[in-house]
Amino acid sequence: MLDPFGRKISYLRVSVTDRCDFRCVYCMTEDMTFLPKKDLLSLEELDRMCSAFVAKGVRKLRLTGGEPLVRRDVMKLVRGLGRHLRSGALDELTLTTNGSQLARFAGELVDAGIKRINVSVDTLDAAKFGTITRWGKLDQVLGGIEAAREAGLKIKINTVALRGINEDEIETLMIWAHERDMDLTLIETMPMGEIDGDRTDQYLPLSVVRARLAKHYSLDEIDYRTGGPARYVRVAETGGKLGFITPLTHNFCESCNRVRLTCTGTLYMCLGQDDAADLRVPLRASADDGLLHSAIEEAISRKPKGHDFIIDRRHQKPAVARHMSMTGG
Ligand code: SAM
Ligand code: SF4
Repeated sequence: MLDPFGRKISYLRVSVTDRCDFRCVYCMTEDMTFLPKKDLLSLEELDRMCSAFVAKGVRKLRLTGGEPLVRRDVMKLVRGLGRHLRSGALDELTLTTNGSQLARFAGELVDAGIKRINVSVDTLDAAKFGTITRWGKLDQVLGGIEAAREAGLKIKINTVALRGINEDEIETLMIWAHERDMDLTLIETMPMGEIDGDRTDQYLPLSVVRARLAKHYSLDEIDYRTGGPARYVRVAETGGKLGFITPLTHNFCESCNRVRLTCTGTLYMCLGQDDAADLRVPLRASADDGLLHSAIEEAISRKPKGHDFIIDRRHQKPAVARHMSMTGG
């Protein structure tokens, strides 16, 4: 599938639930209202949806959320989608998780054909972890990461850089990750959905973080790409890779290869724009996938050129109203 700007769409991210067992301060309010369960696509419908995208040329699928591993019976979906890996129709099936349920599921993820996962960790300080995630327990997440490593999963750590909260810990996180053969990707906060606080207070430009690290480490530019928006450097002293996702300081849209499906079957063609296509209607309208395929093609033909996130004190409202937990980042 090619979009109007000639970009090949080969990557689908699927939010399998908007629910989560954490309430990260930059992502959600503490008293989030979640979608009524009846609005969600069933696991069978999610499988049909993903399989239609695979048939249209998607080569990489990422399950995310909310927290994907808190959706009941999610392993049924993961195991089912594993068949596309075995048939060669899909290059990669992967997952972004907060790690809380990994100790339980790591083995099954490997059995389904998953090789790499992303785990979000913003701090290694248990008290701070409690403050950032509100409901999370650091021990549980670190235990989950160990279980995943032992099961043979390759792990990338995602860390949202938060001004005055974890900015003094970035180096510690990097060393911790690299010592365990895990890459680390830093992310700037994005203005998505109302939260309890003010995002201007959380925003820390990664250009600042990078300049600080560069005083003590050699950050060698490398060509490494995962098909995502991160730009990577190799840290000579640790041997590990460090990625930067900078939606606000660097526009990464020109190489965008992805679209995002919510757990209700809405397709967002851009993380930073409101335009969306309802794929649940064509999915449910017929048992045959013809209508769904046409709706997917029509949606891709509307993929916009890019986003224009801005965070400053003059723009107090989020750039898009939906939360990251709807589309999974
Ligand atoms: N619950 C899983 C997790 O935390 O990894 C998957 C979903 S979460 C929405 C995906 C990623 O988005 C996480 O790494 C999280 O830190 C990041 N995220 C959430 N809200 C964000 C925001 N407003 N700006 C930047 N990153 C955000
Ligand atoms: Fe949950 Fe992930 Fe959002 Fe944190 S970032 S509240 S873990 S969905």
